[in-house]
This record gives sequence, structure tokens and C-alpha cells, in this order.
Amino acid sequence: MMNKDILNNNIDRSWIEKWNKPVVISGPCSAESEKQVLETAAQLNQHPNLVHIFRAGIWKPRTKPNNFEGIGEKGLEWLNKVKKNTGMLVATEVANKEHVKLCLSFNIDILWIGARSTASPFTVQEIANALEGNENTIVLVKNPIHPDIELWIGALERLLSKGIKNLGVIHRGFYTYKSSTYRNQPNWMGLLKFKKLFPRVPVICDPSHICGNRKGILDVAKQALSFHCEGLMIESHCNPDLAWSDGTQQITPKVLLNMINQLMKEKNIFSTHQEKLNICRILIEELDENIIILLYNRMNISRKLGPLKMDSDIATVQPERWNFIMDKYLSLGKKLNISEELLEKIFQLLHKESIKIQNEVRK
Ligand code: PEP
Ligand code: MN
Repeated sequence: MMNKDILNNNIDRSWIEKWNKPVVISGPCSAESEKQVLETAAQLNQHPNLVHIFRAGIWKPRTKPNNFEGIGEKGLEWLNKVKKNTGMLVATEVANKEHVKLCLSFNIDILWIGARSTASPFTVQEIANALEGNENTIVLVKNPIHPDIELWIGALERLLSKGIKNLGVIHRGFYTYKSSTYRNQPNWMGLLKFKKLFPRVPVICDPSHICGNRKGILDVAKQALSFHCEGLMIESHCNPDLAWSDGTQQITPKVLLNMINQLMKEKNIFSTHQEKLNICRILIEELDENIIILLYNRMNISRKLGPLKMDSDIATVQPERWNFIMDKYLSLGKKLNISEELLEKIFQLLHKESIKIQNEVRK
């Protein structure tokens, strides 16, 4: 394992430092046709300098087979045309050594490793090996699907040890069991920890894959900027309703440009004090949302308890058990400096609701 200072100090930040912040990466989830790619890029370029990097997936990792799996190699030619027409850098996802070789032969400027690939050390190693000797390539690593920060760091280490220094990470949220607000739950607390460990690693946020819908993107982008993310990756499509993948979360280039303009205007209006307040509020919201998901899981188990107790001929309420677990919770609360009053109130409410659910099942 690489020492954290070696990783932090050897990252080359020059590629991101040449742009004003936030660095914006936009373009369709998938390249579908030459017309769609060139049209989307031309519209994004209508306000030059707001979008710095054009993205389009050429090989698409799909959860189920027989969905559109990407246009393949010919999409790389379209990306080259975008580069020539607009001057934007171009980026695509790579998931194996053949993808890397093709991208290098087409001079694709930026490669990103997708969330599913970051979760697989074999895949990341294969990509890192194929990149050896190409130290000008910029590689962005999306967070793994599940919240294992070590895998994310491991991917950076594998790339760095093959001489790839133009690195960055993309926070695209994490899979959680049942969460209605987000497609992939952001983890701002985790990101703060990551930034503290590796302050020199450029962090980009991908609100599109966090939200899974159009309406949440602006808010998540604002949150990302509050946490000093240096870039945003937002999917855009000249005709989002007809997109072949991720249609619900793609926006038109026009909406994207308005959004970036709005973000730029708001960027510097907060004092450091307001910014800290804002960060605390976002972190509290994140924790409250986690509490709701925990409650959902807890009540589901309560629902199962009803019939189990009935089958075993046990009463729904058992005071000795209640006293036993409350003692346990209160002593944990004491250690953590949480008032007895708060814990008693919360658990009495939970207990009451749980009994109601169990009795409903018994009816
Ligand atoms: C994408 O960027 O289109 C993509 C597939 O992203 P992720 O790896 O974050 O799911
Ligand atoms: Mn997508």
C-alpha cells in the first residue's frame, strides 16, 4: 500500500488548474449518432468557456444484457470531430485494456473509470497496466458503487504506480438499499474525510448520476460547490426525452448553460461563516435522510415480528425486554453524551409504532 502522502503529493494538478472553477464536463450519457453528438457539442459550445470538457459514453456498462451497450469505436471518431469543431477536450469511459488502447490511438484527452469498474481491482489494474507510458492522459476515477473509500483510493494508487499522475476523482453517489430521494446517495461526510486525507486530489461531482432525475441537479451541484468540488460532470443531450440511456436525468445544453451561469453568479456571494453554516445544514440533512432509511428498515423488521410472535404465542408487548433494551440504549447514550430525555422520547415513540404495526399484522 502506498503512503497517503506519496499519493497526495504526486498527483499532478496542472490539468485542472488551467481552468476557472467549476470545471464543467458535459455531454450525453451515451454517444448515439454522429448527428446527436455533434449537435449536443455545438449547443454546449454556444457559450464558449462555460463547458470545458465534452463527455459521451461509447461503451456502456448496463445492469441487464440486451440493452443498448454503446456505439463502440466509431463514437471515438465523432469525439475527435467535437474536439476539432469546438476546441473542448473530450472524455469517455474505459472498462478494459482494449478500450484504453483504442482511446489512446484516437487521442482521447480524458478517460474515466466508471463506478462499476472502480469496484473491481482486477479491472482497475488492467486499465492501469494498459495506460503505462502515457503520462499525459488525464484519468478520472468515479467512486465505487458501494461506499468503500479504500477501493477508490486503491484505484488512484494503481494508476499512480504506472506513472499516471493527471488524476482526479468523481463523486457520483453510492448505492443504498431503497432511497427514494436519490438514484445514488451522495456522501458529503465521506467526501469531507477524503478531501482531508487527499487535499490535492481534484474532486468533481456528478449530480446527474446522484439524482437520476432532472429536477434535483441544480441543488446537488450547489451542494457540491459548497464542499469545494472543483468540477461538475452533468449529462446533457440535444433531445433528452429520446435518449437511449439515462433519459430521465439528462438536460438540454440550454438548461445546462443557464444552470452553470446561475451557479457562477451565486458562487462567491457567501461569507466563510455562511458557507460553514451551509455545510453543517447539508451534513445534518444527509444524516436525517439516513435516519429515515434506518427507520424504514427497522419498521420492516417490526412487521415480520408480528406473525412470528403470534406463532410462538408470545404477547406483542413484553415489559422485561423493553426495560432491558432501554437500559442498554441509555447507557450507550450516556457514553455519547445524548440526553436520556431525548432517547426515551424517541424510543417510546418507536416502540408504540412498532406495537401498532405488529398488532395490525395480527388482525
Ligand atoms: C456514466 O457516466 O454514464 C456512467 C455510467 O456513470 P457511473 O459509472 O457513475 O454509473
Ligand atoms: Mn449515464
